[in-house]
Amino acid sequence: MNNTNQDLFNQAKIHIAGGVNSPVRAFAGVGGVPVFISRAKGSKIYDTNGGEYVDYVGSWGPMILGHSHPHIIEAVKKAADDGLSFGAPTPFETTIADKICELIPSIDMIRMTSSGTEATMSAIRLARGYTGRDKIVKFEGCYHGHSDSLLVKAGSGMLDIGEPTSKGIPIDFAKHTITLPYNNKQALIDCFEKFSNELACVIVEPIAGNMNMIIPSQEFHDTLRKLCSDTGTVLIFDEVMTGFRVNLGGAQACFGITPDLTTFGKIIGAGLPVGAFGGKKEIMSHIAPLGGVYQAGTLSGNPLAMRAGIAMFDLLTQDGFYEKLSTKVQYLTHNLEKLAKEAGIGFTTTQLGGMFGMYFTDNGLPQNFDDVNKCDTKKFAKFFHGMLKRGVYFAPSAFEVGFMSSEHSQEDLDFTLAMAKQVFTEMAQA
Ligand SMILES: *Cc1c(COP(=O)(O)O)cnc(C)c1O
Repeated sequence: MNNTNQDLFNQAKIHIAGGVNSPVRAFAGVGGVPVFISRAKGSKIYDTNGGEYVDYVGSWGPMILGHSHPHIIEAVKKAADDGLSFGAPTPFETTIADKICELIPSIDMIRMTSSGTEATMSAIRLARGYTGRDKIVKFEGCYHGHSDSLLVKAGSGMLDIGEPTSKGIPIDFAKHTITLPYNNKQALIDCFEKFSNELACVIVEPIAGNMNMIIPSQEFHDTLRKLCSDTGTVLIFDEVMTGFRVNLGGAQACFGITPDLTTFGKIIGAGLPVGAFGGKKEIMSHIAPLGGVYQAGTLSGNPLAMRAGIAMFDLLTQDGFYEKLSTKVQYLTHNLEKLAKEAGIGFTTTQLGGMFGMYFTDNGLPQNFDDVNKCDTKKFAKFFHGMLKRGVYFAPSAFEVGFMSSEHSQEDLDFTLAMAKQVFTEMAQA
């Protein structure tokens, strides 16, 4: 007899803080007990009791080829046979750097890290070192990993110094971070008017995927690019989530914007721990050993991760990959909206490439963090648990997005919709 999830969670909580190694996994946003996973294949994950779920989390983005893709697994097995880590350069690092620079024209040079957090943290240090300025700008509802400068929200006045969103972050650190409302052109103009030549960088999720999903206006991006250029402020696109997820050129290709630096993670490691930051040669040349900005990593450019990433690019660059992926996403979101409408439930969606957002609201598509916060999280929790019970695994939070993989079949999508129809009906009757 297998242990239940409750047993496993209780055991985990003895020696792991909160029973999880990353907070969102604890299901705090939806209540209940997390599902413990034993293995995954293609579009499905399997729990320790043999339960099967169509998975729309995909390890929070990396599994764009589905789980345990044979081409990736083969690359990782071969790499493992050759040794796990050397702490010395390998040609595989050059191959993946060449590949990313070829696919993303704004990137002349890149450096690999072991997580998205390290990538954004390093990009910010680089921007500060390059400009000789301290202040940085971020946006409400965007997430850039858990480094000190970035766990900051707006202060009481819009252009005041920030306040830490986590204990353990000195106010003195937070005061260098300005937080603006997302997708708001006037707030940008006001901020640059006040601080014009004091800003080291602006870091932005070019399409937000950590406050559910928001695609900002072209005008927002055009204004941001112009203000940064005019003031010598480094524009950092955090594409840890959107990179190779919305299309092959990232969100920057969608908006036709050339950022100064870009950060990556998630997909580029195909499920192994990886991040990267890169951009203009003029800026990247300030990193040690070329320049005076220190950045390093014992396992950075790890051969397993690099070879997994290279194998993944083989498949992502095949003709029509993203068209097929986004057709599936559109089929799912369009039909979910239709079913919700039939059941009389206020529900809307947005999507691009292989990611999508779902909102329980009667007020149309959210455009910023305030709008997202007005959505009905209780309804989301009901939907989430209704779907989970029926074998569909969405992210356990109303503030996260959904991810499609190339391995999701028409049958998976239709199964998901059939279950959603039941759940929406149940919700409408409650
Ligand atoms: C996931 C994420 C990060 C952090 O990456 P980790 O690998 O979890 O450290 C940073 N920025 C964005 C936009 C992300 O989605």
